[in-house]
Amino acid sequence: ELDSIATPRRTKDIIRRHGFSFKKSLGQNFLIDQNILNKIVEAAELDSTKGALEIGPGIGALTEKLAQTAGKVTAVEIDRRLIPILEEVLEPYEHVQVEQADVLEVDLPALFENNFKDVSKVSVVANLPYYVTTPILMKLLEGKLPLEHIVVMIQKEVAERMAASPGSKDYGSLSIAVQYYSEPKLICIVPNTVFIPQPNVDSAVIRLTVREKPPVDALDEVHFFDVVHSSFAQRRKTISNNLKSRFSPPEGRERIDALLVQAGIQPSRRGETLSLQEFATLSNVLLEAGI
Ligand code: SAM
Repeated sequence: ELDSIATPRRTKDIIRRHGFSFKKSLGQNFLIDQNILNKIVEAAELDSTKGALEIGPGIGALTEKLAQTAGKVTAVEIDRRLIPILEEVLEPYEHVQVEQADVLEVDLPALFENNFKDVSKVSVVANLPYYVTTPILMKLLEGKLPLEHIVVMIQKEVAERMAASPGSKDYGSLSIAVQYYSEPKLICIVPNTVFIPQPNVDSAVIRLTVREKPPVDALDEVHFFDVVHSSFAQRRKTISNNLKSRFSPPEGRERIDALLVQAGIQPSRRGETLSLQEFATLSNVLLEAGI
C-alpha cells in the first residue's frame, strides 16, 4: 500500500528515482500536505458525475485526489519531463488523461468537447504556476467555458485583489474583471512550508464560482473594460481626470464631468470607490453619448 503522492517522503522518492530537477521558471512548487489538498478538493464540490480540469499537475499530488473524487480528469502539463512520471503514478486511474501542452495555447472549447462530453459539470482545480496566474484565469473566464467552479492556489496578494470590495486598497481592475465573470470566495491562506521547494511568497486557495450571466448589464463589454482600465490608469487621480486622459469628446473634455454626474457619480471620486454596477452605468452613459 503506497502513501499519497503529496507527502514529503513519497514526493522526494519520486523525484529521486526519476532524477527530476525543479525549474523555477515554470513555477514548480509541489504540494506535500494532505490537509491543504483536501481543502482544495472539497471546495470544488466534485463527485463521480463531474469532471475536473487540472492545470500543471506536476508529479500528480492533486491529480491523484481528483482521480479519487471526480468522474473524469484531464491534466495539462507543459513540462515534458513530468509526463513519464505522471503516467507511472496515475497508471491505476483509467478516467485520468494527461496532455502535454502549454495551457495558454490549448483550444479549451475543443478539449471540453472531446474530454468532458459525458459529465454533468466541469471545474478547474489547480495549484497554478504563479508566473502566469492572471493570463490563465482570464483565459478561463473570458473564454466563457461551461465551468462550475475554478478552485486555485495562487499568490496570496493576487487572491486578495480578486476578492476585494470597492473602497479597499486591493480593489482594482482585476477585482472587477474576476467579479464580472464569477463570485470569488477566499478558502484559506496557505504557508509556504507545504511546498517542495518553498516559494518566497504566501499563497491562498480561492474559489471562483462562474456566473451564468454577468451581474450587471454592460451594453458593450469591450467598452466597459476600457472604462474600467482607464479609471484605474493612475490610482491617485480622480475618475474625472483618468477618463479625461483616455477619452476626448468633440464637445470638449468638460463633457466627461456632465456625463459622470448623469451616471450618478461625483467627478471627484476615485475609480477604486466605484461598484461594478456604477462602472456598467457609466460605460452605458458614455456609449450613448458617443464616447
Ligand atoms: N499540481 C502540482 C502540485 O500541486 O504539486 C504542481 C503545481 S506547480 C505550482 C505548477 C505546475 O504547472 C508545474 O508542474 C509546471 O510545470 C506547470 N506549468 C507551468 N506553466 C504551465 C503552462 N503554461 N501550462 C501548463 N502547465 C504549466
